[in-house]
Amino acid sequence: MSGIYIHIPFCKQACSYCDFYFVTRTSEREHFVERLVEDIKSYRDSRFARERVETIYFGGGTPSLLEPAQLEQIMKALYDVFDIGEQEITLEMNPDDVSAPFLADLKSLGISRASMGVQSFEPDLLEFMHRAHSSEEALQCLELLSASDFNSFTVDLIYGNPGQSVEQLERDVKKLLEFNPPHISAYSLTIEPKTRLGKQVELGRIAPPEDDKVAKHFDIINQLFSSQGIERYEVSNYSIPGKEAIHNSNYWEHENYLGLGPGAHSFWWDDKAERWENEKDLRKYLRDEDHPEKEVLSLKQLAEERLMMGLRTKKGVRVAELSEQYDYELSDRQLNYLENREQEGKVNVDERIILTDEGIKIADAIILDLVTLH
Ligand code: SF4
Repeated sequence: MSGIYIHIPFCKQACSYCDFYFVTRTSEREHFVERLVEDIKSYRDSRFARERVETIYFGGGTPSLLEPAQLEQIMKALYDVFDIGEQEITLEMNPDDVSAPFLADLKSLGISRASMGVQSFEPDLLEFMHRAHSSEEALQCLELLSASDFNSFTVDLIYGNPGQSVEQLERDVKKLLEFNPPHISAYSLTIEPKTRLGKQVELGRIAPPEDDKVAKHFDIINQLFSSQGIERYEVSNYSIPGKEAIHNSNYWEHENYLGLGPGAHSFWWDDKAERWENEKDLRKYLRDEDHPEKEVLSLKQLAEERLMMGLRTKKGVRVAELSEQYDYELSDRQLNYLENREQEGKVNVDERIILTDEGIKIADAIILDLVTLH
């Protein structure tokens, strides 16, 4: 079983916090689609085409900047080359691109899951984040989505914005919950150095969000979502039972995936485990000049990765899986560390290592400590 990730590297404008790869030269979309279709065809009869593809994820950038006819060309090429099982086909979209006919077209192309980048309904926060859509467009797209045939969709929300009050956060969450979303990704705003926001923080014009405030926002989100039966199953991901994202869950469990498009990542583990990242350069991609080097991963690296990804999930990591799949035994120092964190109420260790709600708030620190103690 495997997944395919397709990176559509176009955006209308740069959001202030974003460090994904994208360009704002949307005039190259047609050329990009032609090249992507060629790229997909180059995998015909390859080892990647022999494994059944259960999930496809169109991410970006902004996949909703492509026309339905362009998406149709891409889907057709995928079906021609790969054995597609259709468990889940997700497409990220921004509210300002969505209309009822657009959603109907996507559905008829076989897209089964819509991922809506709302982030906030508050006008001043949308402006601060330099989002291309308005508060009204955010509400309207959710109304359209609710009235559409998409019974599986997810909405992105950002919290922990500098200057974001608790009242604003509660308003955002309550407004979103009115639409009964089956899945929500709620991200704490991170300040990335090369972004507009990162530069402003570096220049001292904006203070980064305080840890206490972010932790409080996290608690509010957990509590409000949970009151509507939407439970956290990963640090930033929440769903009603049975609507967890399959594509992303497969990443965390080391299923294979092939990334297409500039900046896309791939991971493939058959006789050896390899990871590679396409160059973040649209021009090179268009000229077929990007041939990324593959990094071969050792079992120890894989075990550490599994801990890093798995401990961020509600299921945690099965202790026996570490030895069975990765030939990795927890050291005495690691076991001691886990015992101490367990006494503090941050970790539960039984057949599985699972971070508690308190532990999840400092997941990155716990995981880093644990991995370095091997
Ligand atoms: S729309 Fe998405 S990918 Fe594009 S700049 Fe904004 S956050 Fe980044």
